[in-house]
Amino acid sequence: MSRTFDVVIIGGGVVGSSAAYFLAAEQAFTGSIAVIERDPTYAEAATPRSAGGIRQQFSTPENILISSFGASFVKSAAEHLAVGNEAPELNFREDGYLFLSTGAGLRTLIDNQQLQRQLGAGTLLMTPAELAERFPWLNCTDLAGGSFGPVNEGWLDPYSLLQAFRRKARSLDVTYIQDEVSGLDMAQGRVNAVKLRSGETLHCGSVVNCAGVNAWRIAAWVGLDLPVRPRKRFVYVFDCREELTGVPLTIDPSGVWVRPEGANFICGVSPEEGNDPDSTDFELDYRLFEELIWPTLAHRVPAFEAIKLIRAWAGHYDYNLLDQNVIIGVAPHVANFYMANGFSGHGLQQSPAIGRALSELIAYGGYRTIDLRRFGYERVLNGQAIREANVV
Ligand SMILES: Cc1cc2nc3c(=O)[nH]c(=O)nc-3n(C[C@H](O)[C@H](O)[C@H](O)COP(=O)(O)OP(=O)(O)OC[C@H]3O[C@@H](n4cnc5c(N)ncnc54)[C@H](O)[C@@H]3O)c2cc1C
Repeated sequence: MSRTFDVVIIGGGVVGSSAAYFLAAEQAFTGSIAVIERDPTYAEAATPRSAGGIRQQFSTPENILISSFGASFVKSAAEHLAVGNEAPELNFREDGYLFLSTGAGLRTLIDNQQLQRQLGAGTLLMTPAELAERFPWLNCTDLAGGSFGPVNEGWLDPYSLLQAFRRKARSLDVTYIQDEVSGLDMAQGRVNAVKLRSGETLHCGSVVNCAGVNAWRIAAWVGLDLPVRPRKRFVYVFDCREELTGVPLTIDPSGVWVRPEGANFICGVSPEEGNDPDSTDFELDYRLFEELIWPTLAHRVPAFEAIKLIRAWAGHYDYNLLDQNVIIGVAPHVANFYMANGFSGHGLQQSPAIGRALSELIAYGGYRTIDLRRFGYERVLNGQAIREANVV
């Protein structure tokens, strides 16, 4: 059996579904779109395992602009993603991100804040006294300062955003196919067809690789060496006896982060670079919570001395080994193979702008809004890393 689509998107997570929505909604594009997703329950995908954070506090201009669009899109999702009278509820909590510094990192916070404000973000620099006044639950005794983003920063429900993109894309005639892409047929430097595990072949005009942690295997089929690998991260859910109000997503100088989640809190930390092996399992590490995260949190927020761990989950970053930034664009030597991979922990908030960017590339052959050419695969070939200082 075979069918033909103008665009085949591999992977129907938040990025693939956003790309499908933006392309289907793009007036300049009138072709057919299929999204191939091997597991529509998304049991192991990164999207539903995300912490849902969105912020403009990045050090790379593109990332600031990308998330800025993400925030405005999320805020107006009811308008863009409603199907009929049904508007999605993304539960966006605009409660801010708070980066803390003990001294060494203060210069970076100051430099980043200048750049963020130039690009329209509302980041505030705060002294320890200002922090203590605004966040009375915070231990500021060893802090040199912090940066706080009260506008367009906070968190949302990742699964709801994914489902909203998916539902809207389907309403715009995108075809979702439950199957696994098992290979690509190439001819004269182009992808001719996408082969599915079921035996079906999909002839295609273009292919978009949105396969998350699996993207590097798919890229290898067209001869691309994509430096993206699965790196495990843990999220711990705990209950705090004391009631705290006005808690933003707070990042301790150690890298430990915490934010409210309903009546509870969630927290986590990224490991040191040398202690971060590739991993595809979901085994949990409770020692990390007991030995590092909890003591750090209890120092930073004294109320967290009396907490109870409720549960935890693991998920995988699609980690870009070169520079922890997305690799987006068309493959240099395969004119109809597009990719958006290697989000390294910020793909949820980037999904609206990245979906829009992919639709621009496909519909117009170039970016129309945010210029993401620096994030193309060419930088991998040239070894030109674009370092993002604020990877959480
Ligand atoms: C613990 C954790 C916390 C995070 N916190 C944040 C955060 O606070 N803010 C933020 O912005 N981001 C965060 N992220 C990152 C974010 O979740 C990801 O960057 C984003 O979800 C990536 O979306 P995706 O669609 O590329 O990948 P996925 O959601 O993984 O989707 C990829 C899909 O491709 C499918 N697929 C793969 N191979 C094939 C194939 N051969 N055939 C068919 N289908 C295939 C998979 O089944 C999967 O559903 C976090 C991630 C984790 C793990």
